[in-house]
Amino acid sequence: MAGDRQHLIERAGRLLQAADRLVALTGAGVSTPSGIPDFRSPDSGLWRDADPMAVASLEAFRRRPLAFYDWLRPLLEIGLAARPNPAHEALRDLEKFGPLKTLITQNIDLLHSLAGSENVLEIHGHLRELICLRCGAICEATPHLHEFVAGGTIPRCSLCAAVLKPRVILFGELLSQHLLNRAAAAVTSSDVLLIAGSSLEVYPVNELPWLARQTGSRLIIVNLQPTPADEIADVVIRGNVTEVLPALAASFQPQTL
Ligand code: NAD
Repeated sequence: MAGDRQHLIERAGRLLQAADRLVALTGAGVSTPSGIPDFRSPDSGLWRDADPMAVASLEAFRRRPLAFYDWLRPLLEIGLAARPNPAHEALRDLEKFGPLKTLITQNIDLLHSLAGSENVLEIHGHLRELICLRCGAICEATPHLHEFVAGGTIPRCSLCAAVLKPRVILFGELLSQHLLNRAAAAVTSSDVLLIAGSSLEVYPVNELPWLARQTGSRLIIVNLQPTPADEIADVVIRGNVTEVLPALAASFQPQTL
């Protein structure tokens, strides 16, 4: 098995070496090694007891914002203290020293940016800012979220006192068409799409692998569990992102004497 994996990593490595325009697509699985649970791993106990649709939809936020913040609390407690792991660092290095042009992420945890990746499309939004749905004011999230985690103070708009919503895309909320267009353009102009840590069950991001194939891009998938796109991938590596991605990025590191 270990031999098989090494063989697959070498095949993926050859695709990356030949790539001019690599695009990466990441999901919650790149942040589980930083301690943030994903939604769909079998042992992801954090979310098992709550139906995200019931509390993390736009309608639910409007009706019961306090229940939404209760649901968000565990993610904030872990997420505010989380640090990038070797998978984030490998993707940063593939951009800095290798062919990676665009990193599309479904994650809201900011860890790619913290690791130093620059061209990141946060397609499901982010926890960097909060927005007031009543008056449109936007503010920096960190002080409010720390205050909430430490003392339970729900973030409120300084202008109109409405409860502020993190700038994450909730169920029932539209994704930014602008970001989606940029993601689609990046994928269609890529020669390799590297997917890591995503179940590929969330629409419309889960259409990107097929778009890549239609436009002639090669596909590498690194994930612990099978995904619906495995059947169209050139290389599927069933492994931990913290082992596989650094191995893929290693050959792009600058040589030191
Ligand atoms: P998902 O939970 O549906 O799937 C995660 C996948 O990653 C699983 O298939 C799992 O097998 C795999 N995985 C977990 N740990 C791994 C590891 N160490 N190495 C390799 N693979 C690993 O996640 P998704 O596809 O991103 O979709 C879930 C949605 O939930 C997204 O919209 C995302 O925005 C959101 N979410 C985000 C975070 C975050 O920002 N960190 C956390 C939870 C959920």
